[in-house]
Amino acid sequence: MIIKNIFRTLTIVAFCSFTTITANAQDLLARQAPIDRKMKALDTLALRKTIEREDMENPSANLYEGWDNRYAHKATTLPDVYKIDLRGFRMPTPSRVITSNFGRRWGRMHKGLDIKVYIGDTIRAAFSGKVRIVRYEANGYGNYVVIRHNNGLETIYGHLSRQLVHENQTVRAGQPIGLGGNTGLSTGSHLHFETRLCGVALNPALFFDFRNQDVTGDFYTFRRSTIDSESAQATRLRGKNDSRGYRRSDVTGGGDDDYGMR
Ligand SMILES: [Zn+2]
Repeated sequence: MIIKNIFRTLTIVAFCSFTTITANAQDLLARQAPIDRKMKALDTLALRKTIEREDMENPSANLYEGWDNRYAHKATTLPDVYKIDLRGFRMPTPSRVITSNFGRRWGRMHKGLDIKVYIGDTIRAAFSGKVRIVRYEANGYGNYVVIRHNNGLETIYGHLSRQLVHENQTVRAGQPIGLGGNTGLSTGSHLHFETRLCGVALNPALFFDFRNQDVTGDFYTFRRSTIDSESAQATRLRGKNDSRGYRRSDVTGGGDDDYGMR
């Protein structure tokens, strides 16, 4: 693709350049050198433009060294600044009920958000991407799915009762990837949802506002220097619901049925 584009560009440049040259052979020789230099410069420019464009289409290509189906997460060096495109998102669940925040909990880090779902509820891919891991972990995630997205994020969906995708499968944003459950280290059915950049867990509330079923903006610019304070702020703004409880429809996104407890 890259080679083809460059070749096409060079061919056009070469053609245009030569048509301006007179038939005089000496002129042709005299001008050969500048043309070579010009073509070289254009070659670099065209190459740079092509790389820039492909990076925009798939920025995650530069963030991750490779692709494997072994590790749910392996932290690598985070960039200092990285702009994440949140457009084209779909909410993983219509539930507006967060039962546990990202951050320190019971003396250890809780690396995702817990969102109330019922067993069998549809869980959807947050963005388009490719499924990296479909696995079971008894002492943790239970049945879980890891997806790598073109915007650089990886998302993890834990405690599923069933996985509906397989490894290396391409998925669209909003595509069902599993069913809500209570597998692994879990008390009560819920979705454990993680968002990671270069294997490092970032607070999903930085990107997703479950209560309002929306993203926090078209883009989120990750900055290593401010991530901790922004994460704390995100929890204050979009974290765990108050203790008044919730209705079943807050979880299912359905009509205003009221047979849950408030
Ligand atoms: Zn959790």
